[in-house]
Amino acid sequence: MAVHPITTLPRDAAVLRTPAKRVRNFDASLRSLVADMIDSMNAAHGVGIAAPQIGIGLRVIVVGMPGERPFVMVNPEVVKRSGERELIEGCLSVPGYRGRVTRSTRVLAKAQDISGREIRVRAEDDLLAQCLEHEIDHVNGRVYIDHVQSIDELWTLDEMIEDDQEDVDDEEEIDDDE
Ligand SMILES: [Zn+2]
Repeated sequence: MAVHPITTLPRDAAVLRTPAKRVRNFDASLRSLVADMIDSMNAAHGVGIAAPQIGIGLRVIVVGMPGERPFVMVNPEVVKRSGERELIEGCLSVPGYRGRVTRSTRVLAKAQDISGREIRVRAEDDLLAQCLEHEIDHVNGRVYIDHVQSIDELWTLDEMIEDDQEDVDDEEEIDDDE
């Protein structure tokens, strides 16, 4: 097991922008890749990671919801999606930014587990639904900034912190009025 550096744009566009290859061998090297992905995701404090984010062009993602055991999805694909919702999103491979994107409300995804058995994951209106679409995008060479409508919908973290400060100020004013 090992922590790998996270690939970032624009430097690592070659691996992040190329659709990844299907996994055909469910062997020890796959298990080792998944262990490295989990370590790297935890080290980077992510809630999900795709193999291209540690420089490996294979269709493997790990989902790590807070407080839950991470699980792997090999050759994942979205089978069905419906509904729309607007979310603020970030990505380990686009450090320092957040953006507003439209994601689906309901997502049904299928994949294989680490042994090659088919699994299905269903999520609705939660972080898991967002994570499934985000990570499956990664193995298709897509990144959330592709979904940002305009550059105005992308902020640096510094800008967001300033906005938060303004929010705090607003709350204090309300308190003063009471
Ligand atoms: Zn990402």
